[in-house]
Amino acid sequence: MENKRNSQTIAEYIKNWSRKHSLFIMAYGTGCGAIEIPATLTSRYDAERLGIRGAATPRQADVLLITGYLATKTLKRVIRVYEQMQDPKYVIAFGSCTINGGMYYDSYNTINVLEKYIPVDVYINGCMPRPEAVIAGFQQLQDKIARGEADNGTRYKENLEWYRANQHRVIKNWRMPDYNW
Ligand code: SF4
Repeated sequence: MENKRNSQTIAEYIKNWSRKHSLFIMAYGTGCGAIEIPATLTSRYDAERLGIRGAATPRQADVLLITGYLATKTLKRVIRVYEQMQDPKYVIAFGSCTINGGMYYDSYNTINVLEKYIPVDVYINGCMPRPEAVIAGFQQLQDKIARGEADNGTRYKENLEWYRANQHRVIKNWRMPDYNW
């Protein structure tokens, strides 16, 4: 813990420590793996004891948890949700389908590399990952936050042109409000 603190000011350390213990998630379930999320959040695995709980809207969420394969159509909604979230914000890609398209990898409209469209902080592999794996993934994210290394929201803004070019390449009917942060 001492090492984690050394590279940060006391204020940053306290801020990151607080953020790490208060993660409100926006679960974007597009596939069967989403069925593990209720089990993770309810009494059996009780993720709330680690400060992980659901959020009602993107504006209130810290973590976008994407479970399942993404089609070009759903990618558009994911981008919209991500852009509505306030900084600091994090993305977890959950399950083989989200990571590389899974069993739909060679479909004409499956997104294979999510990282090209929005920045991903943590990948949780498996088909489908069990609640223990989900919790381990969140703990990985918490460690990154505590070390002050989870600043992908800033990376997204700084490289928005690159992300937009990739997004426009696959989403042909792009009619969305400007990213308004
Ligand atoms: S990775 Fe497996 S469990 Fe998850 S959405 Fe794909 S097929 Fe379903």
